[in-house]
Parts: sequence; structure tokens; C-alpha cells
Amino acid sequence: MGLFGKKKSGGSASNIASAIQNEKQKADIIVNAIDDAVILIDAKNVIKTFNPGASQLTGWSDEEAHDIDYRSVVKFTDNKGAEIPEAQHPFYLVFSQKSVIKNNELNIMRRDNSQIGVDVIVTPIIDDGGKVSGAVAVLRDVDDRRKQDRQRADFISTASHEMRTPVAAIEGYLALALNDKVTQIDEKARSYLEKAHASTNHLGQLFQDLLTSAKAEDGRLTSHPINVELSEFVEKLVEDLRFSAEKKGLALEMLKGGSGSGTATIAPLLYANVDPDRLREVITNIFDNAVKYTESGKITIGVTGDKNVVQVSIADTGPGIPKTDIPHLFQKFYRVDNSATRTIGGTGLGLFICRKIIELYNGKIWVESVEGEGSTFYINLPRVDSNQVQLQAAQSANTPTTSTPQAGVITPTKQGA
Ligand code: ADP
Repeated sequence: MGLFGKKKSGGSASNIASAIQNEKQKADIIVNAIDDAVILIDAKNVIKTFNPGASQLTGWSDEEAHDIDYRSVVKFTDNKGAEIPEAQHPFYLVFSQKSVIKNNELNIMRRDNSQIGVDVIVTPIIDDGGKVSGAVAVLRDVDDRRKQDRQRADFISTASHEMRTPVAAIEGYLALALNDKVTQIDEKARSYLEKAHASTNHLGQLFQDLLTSAKAEDGRLTSHPINVELSEFVEKLVEDLRFSAEKKGLALEMLKGGSGSGTATIAPLLYANVDPDRLREVITNIFDNAVKYTESGKITIGVTGDKNVVQVSIADTGPGIPKTDIPHLFQKFYRVDNSATRTIGGTGLGLFICRKIIELYNGKIWVESVEGEGSTFYINLPRVDSNQVQLQAAQSANTPTTSTPQAGVITPTKQGA
């Protein structure tokens, strides 16, 4: 709603009221000319501006939407098409968090119940007293782009799936050719075959990463979360990973429970609800990077937690990561461009996959790094109270099919693929 199209009030330019009117007209012209949907709400959740872009996107006219509670008009759905709860609505979050809310994964539910993929940015309007007195949302129709992304992801996942099979066969035959018990080959042939075997391994890993990242993008990653005690889980996993660090001459230290030494105190039980295979994939990936990029020194793995969060950290004494690269590090195919990455093989998919997996469990992953000193990767996962874990375990023990009091609780037994 606005003054766009109305005649100017006709006062002289020196008149303050007319100057304000002019400014308002200018603002209206800009808002109405923007192709994206622009929606302004006040502190009572009432829509105060609804530009033509918003009408086009939602199917509600300006007259219908104006002065109405946004919850009746601006409804979002998730990637499965289910309406998101109010507590996750960007308009709700902007008031509770008092900061800009961005979300690139929502769809808007139109008036005719059809859904359109949108990128959402909601900015709070903060008054002089520091209170949020309203919010401006800009919604961009990205439906076509998302469809193209989906088609590309489908192509990548089908292609990488199909290519993995012959690569696995080549790898198998090369392994046979290198096996003394099966074949006899001279040293020259062995060195060629070893190189071919290493490259085939790399190719297989690349296809696997492509497949996993395509699945992660369209929400098809399989996940079977259970309650996992992370101190013990990580400790056992570190034992499996120790060899690769020590082979490179790197020291390895495990810190538990945030005590600093890991030996003096009884470590608390730090449970999180995750798929152990997926978490193993994440930690192994970050650990492998630490080994890969660190020339000398030490890798330190920590597990700690507070009431709400369990935190796993993996620190190295490697080259560190430039500040300008850090915001992009968890994006697809991103690799820091330096001499190390040019000589050390990689796909730039590992950290992207890690982020997608951690987000499955409402966790957070990030890195802190000082160039020349090293990097520390952190994973935060919502902590599950151990009483609740025991209760759930006892409940499942009481069901006729299971009898173990540890049901639903896991610690690792082997290294993941
Ligand atoms: P890659 O297959 O290239 O290792 P990742 O997604 O796992 O892909 O990592 C992305 C980039 O982040 C790497 O190419 C590297 O430049 C940087 N990186 C990751 N871990 C470390 C580390 N521990 N130390 C320094 N740089 C790192």
C-alpha cells in the first residue's frame, strides 16, 4: 500500500511537510519498483507494506494483505512441503534474535496453496531504545534456480553412482595384480601399477564424495540417529586414526571432558543424538585433513561439553587458513589456493559434506585458525541429558523384543569406510 500513483500534494519545496511527503513518495516508488517481494511488518506482527512483487509472489493483493497479521499471509514450508512451525518463521526469529535472518531453503506457500522456492532475508528495524519495532522482509523467487540445481544434483548423483562400479572393478584388479600371492611382476611394472592403484583410489573417493554431496544437497542422506556417548566414541575412533598421524611423524593427543589433561577427573557422559557412521565420516574427514595439511607438530582432539552442547575439537599445528578463505571453506568444491593445496590432492567436497551432516543433527561446525600456527575445527552438537538416555534405554529394555539395558546407546567398534 502506498502513495505510488497518487498526485503530489503540490506544496512548495521549502515546506517541511511537503519535503517529507516527497521523501515518502520516493521511498514508495523504490519499494514498488523492486521486483522482489518486500514486506514490512510492525511490532504487532501486522503487515504495513506489501509491494507488487509481494502480491505477484504470494497471490495476495496489497489491499487484502495490508493491516493483516503476517501469519495469515506469509506462510513458509520446508523442503518436504510441510509448513514450518511459528518458532522457525523468519519474522518470529527476527524479533527473538534481534538480528538479520537469512534462509535459502524455504518455500513460500501461495494463496492457492502452491509452493515456490524463495531466498529470504528479514532485517529488524531497531528503535532508539534498542527494541525491534518492526521488520522488513525481502523474498526472492528462486524456484527455477532450485529446479536446475536439483537436476544438476540428480545428474551428478546418477553419473557418480554409475562410474563407481567400473572404478571399483579396476581397483580390485589392480590390487590383484599387486598381490605377490596371485601374480609375479617386475619392479618397474609394480611401480606403475602402484601409481595406477593410488589414482584409482582417488577417483573412487571423488565419485563417493560427489555422490554424498549430491545426496546431502537434496536431503537424501540416509541417517539413523541414536544416542552416542561422544567421549568414548571419539577416543575409540582416534585409536583407529592414530596410525595415519604417526606414520607422518605427527604426535596425537586426546583431551576429554575439558579438564585439560584428560586423566585427573572423571569425564562426564556427553551424549548426542547422531548417526555414528555419519559422525565418524565427519571426524575422520577433518582428522585426515589435519594430517594431510600438517607437515610437523601435533594433532589434538578434544571432547568437552556444557549443559546444552557437546563439543568436539580437532586442532593441528599446520599452515593455518587465511582469514579471507574461512567464510567459504564449508562450500562445495572450495579449496584454499596455495602451494600446499596445489600439490596435495583433494576435491574440496569434504568440509561441505561435513557441514551438511552436522546440520542434519542441528549442530554447528566452524574453524578458527591463525596462519603459520595451525587450525582448530569445532563441532557443536545438542547434548542429550544422560538421565534421558538411561530412561529411553530402560524403556526399550522393557519392550518384549530387547533386553539389554544399553539399548539405543552406542560406542564405536570399527573405523568407517
Ligand atoms: P580437500 O579435499 O581439498 O581437502 P576439504 O573440503 O576437506 O577439501 O577442505 C577444503 C580446503 O580447506 C582444503 O583444500 C584446504 O585448503 C583447507 N583445509 C582444510 N583443512 C585444513 C587444515 N587442517 N589446515 C589447513 N587447511 C585446511
